[in-house]
Amino acid sequence: MQRKLPPNLHKATQAIYAGQLERPVYGEVSVPIFQTSTFAFPSAEEGAARFSGESPGYIYTRMGNPTVHALEDNLAALENGSAALATATGMAAITTVFLSLLSQGDHLVAEHCLYGPTEVVIEAEMPRFGIEATLVDTSNLSAIEPALRPNTRMIYLETPTNPTMKITDIRGAAAIAHRHGAWLTVDNTFCSPYVQRPLDLGADLVIHSLTKYLNGHSDVVGGMIVVKDAELYRRLKRVLTLFGATMDPHQAWLILRGVRTLPLRMERSQDNALKLAEFLSRHPKVTWVRHPGLPDHPQHGLAQAQMDGFGAMLCFGVQGGLEGAKTVINRMRLITRAVSLGGVESLIEHPASMTHAGVPREKRERAGIGDELVRLSVGCEDVRDLQADLDQALNKIP
Ligand SMILES: *Cc1c(COP(=O)(O)O)cnc(C)c1O
Repeated sequence: MQRKLPPNLHKATQAIYAGQLERPVYGEVSVPIFQTSTFAFPSAEEGAARFSGESPGYIYTRMGNPTVHALEDNLAALENGSAALATATGMAAITTVFLSLLSQGDHLVAEHCLYGPTEVVIEAEMPRFGIEATLVDTSNLSAIEPALRPNTRMIYLETPTNPTMKITDIRGAAAIAHRHGAWLTVDNTFCSPYVQRPLDLGADLVIHSLTKYLNGHSDVVGGMIVVKDAELYRRLKRVLTLFGATMDPHQAWLILRGVRTLPLRMERSQDNALKLAEFLSRHPKVTWVRHPGLPDHPQHGLAQAQMDGFGAMLCFGVQGGLEGAKTVINRMRLITRAVSLGGVESLIEHPASMTHAGVPREKRERAGIGDELVRLSVGCEDVRDLQADLDQALNKIP
């Protein structure tokens, strides 16, 4: 029921058109918000046909909704997948993947520097279901193999990592997973499909927090799972529909509107991020900068090989440790002190005392998250204003 588009469109064009309805109701150019909980059956026979799967018509919004479907088809196109499932939040996408594909007695190998709540789910909640995990540094491929067990069903990673900007070789991790009959799942939130498409590199599942770059305006939460395999899709769809962490049509419409400008926003944010990374590298109050686009990033070559650009996240160390970091964050006049990322506005935060405060200090420092580390999500502003704001705040460090 989705509009057929010419083949081989580029990402910036797909972002605008993919998922649109084949037959608009009144010729509308924007996909309408089908704000309805249930859908009338024209006959008893048609109702039965929809339930048996013989008819593709809609039944009930938890089971499928045209606005949500439009967003799912849009993301499936952008990720070069065959199907996608929208979820209430990014965390709902992650837990739906685990609850659909892992069972009691199964084992998971995951990156050790993950988005905080994901790590808590893996370490503290999944064991209640009899699902164990081993956390390793997946950016070192040789650390993955020894962690695999006969019952390992999935390898789970994020690249670049938050906030340390380490890169994992997705192709290499996929090869290891498939040799062991396991799935590779990649949380692609930090890049968006405009910058990185893990399914093309061999991953089986891609997860997004749509809250970040895909929506892009810091005004709505949402999640997505994208796959290539029809059987995986069927299993995920069944569990998502039954467990109920589905997306609302109004939420889907807002995110669809955001995705239309993803390529424009991403181009500007990436460009700004690289310029700021270079500026910070030269600043006397800055001790180090980590951004995949800088030639001194230890995996700059790998980033060039597997990403279309370098994303718009970066982190840096400041002089004066914790006090220095607090000074910079408190003295910002324009850049907003907030967690989250991927919006049009730049956001700054201090992982050791905010997003990663729950991680024990020793583990945090082993992962490279020291007290001097500041994380920056670079937005779409004029880069001169961002640079001036950072410069005046950094110069307040004694
Ligand atoms: C924000 C985020 C999530 C969780 O998404 P929500 O929409 O907040 O539930 C998962 N992974 C990464 C990498 C994120 O940045």
